[in-house]
This record gives sequence, structure tokens and C-alpha cells, in this order.
Amino acid sequence: MRELVACHCSECRKAYGSAFGVIAVCAAEDFCWLNGLEHVTRYTQSPNVTRRFCSNCGSPLPIVEEGYPLVGIPAGLIEGSLDMKISEHIFVESGADWFSFDDGAPQYPGPSPSSLEKRE
Ligand SMILES: [Zn+2]
Repeated sequence: MRELVACHCSECRKAYGSAFGVIAVCAAEDFCWLNGLEHVTRYTQSPNVTRRFCSNCGSPLPIVEEGYPLVGIPAGLIEGSLDMKISEHIFVESGADWFSFDDGAPQYPGPSPSSLEKRE
């Protein structure tokens, strides 16, 4: 895993049913589906976001975009310790007004400056 990113955007709040979603980011080349593909269900949350969830248990599933070099794994899916802390909070400007936090990690009103660089 490269980093843990907490996304406070309205789409993540809805997808994870919480104040924010925490995504473990890894290189696409380091990710593969091991089993359970028959349970992977997709839905288009918005024109730019396709989500996957497990039709068996309802868990949100990794965000895998064809041709994109990174994969986002909902951190709660990972068993055992990650031995990492949240490295940044993104889209805090559209975050839930009923939740406050200050864990010392950088906060950005929109996307992470580093994620924009990775898309180029
Ligand atoms: Zn988000």
C-alpha cells in the first residue's frame, strides 16, 4: 500500500454510509481479484464514478479503473493491521458538517494535489 486517503466527498459518504471513506491506495500492477468475481456488482454513481459492491454481503469493493495506474481499496476490507495512518483528507470542503476531526494529516478542499499529478 502506498497511502491511506480519507475522502469526504458526498459520493464517498453515500457509498460508505459514513462521514468519509478511507481508501488504501496501491499500484494497479500490485492488485488482482483472487475470487468472488461472480459477486461483483457495478453501478454508476455519477458520470465519472462507477462503484462496485459485493452482491453477497453488500461491502463496497476496490475502485479499479481501466488504464489508471492506481487502485483504491476500501480500507475496512483489509484484514489485519495496515501499519499506516491516514496520510491526507480530501474533499473536506464538501464533508459532513456533523463530523469534526484533526488527526494532523493534511486537509484539502478538493482532490489531492498528488492525485492530480498521478493522472497526468
Ligand atoms: Zn470521494
